[in-house]
Amino acid sequence: MVDEDSPANASMAARCLFGAFGPDGITAEEFTVICAADLDVQVMNGGFRQYLVNPSKHFAENAPAALTEIGAPNAASVVREFLNICTVTEENLGPRSHGLIVRHYKLPSDRDSESHKYDQRYDQAEPVWSLIREYIIANRPSIRTYAQAILQLKADGLDAESRQHRHAEAVARLNAQWANRERPCPKCGQLFRSVSCRGRCPKCGHTFYASHPNEYESFPW
Ligand SMILES: [Zn+2]
Repeated sequence: MVDEDSPANASMAARCLFGAFGPDGITAEEFTVICAADLDVQVMNGGFRQYLVNPSKHFAENAPAALTEIGAPNAASVVREFLNICTVTEENLGPRSHGLIVRHYKLPSDRDSESHKYDQRYDQAEPVWSLIREYIIANRPSIRTYAQAILQLKADGLDAESRQHRHAEAVARLNAQWANRERPCPKCGQLFRSVSCRGRCPKCGHTFYASHPNEYESFPW
């Protein structure tokens, strides 16, 4: 049974549409969901350091506005303050639809030890995941489900077997299977749960896929 109101489902749908059509192909509400959900997954999973190394970092500049929009102004402040201690390494796109500005942030190594402080403050701010769900339910007509997104792609004649779709489907399948299941870190053995298939060991910091613990970056799709 697919939970269509879950932030993971809506965010996956919006990412597929974004990937196929660019920022003009998604609604403002879908853009808000991508920015807020991607940040929340990464920060709750592996902290702000993980956020900045994953593709979700492309939306960092827009994340505080998205968090404010869903009703999490305190979480938005924490993100804004964290980004203020980072350096901007690259700007390659923007501004585009929905005010999208792609700006790459990097945490300077001498500020590395401070990131935990922001992780903790974010954790104590609003329950972002629940707020995103409420936002999705309240804005359902403007936010497509994953099933609707796939229908849209097919209606526009896009190859449903493209790499992007296979990727999205593989990730959705593995996340559904591995989210919140206890797994041992292949490096240090620490048992922990993460909110998706990919997680970062809270003890040693090793990042891996629970489905493929010994393959660091390769991912089968
Ligand atoms: Zn470990």
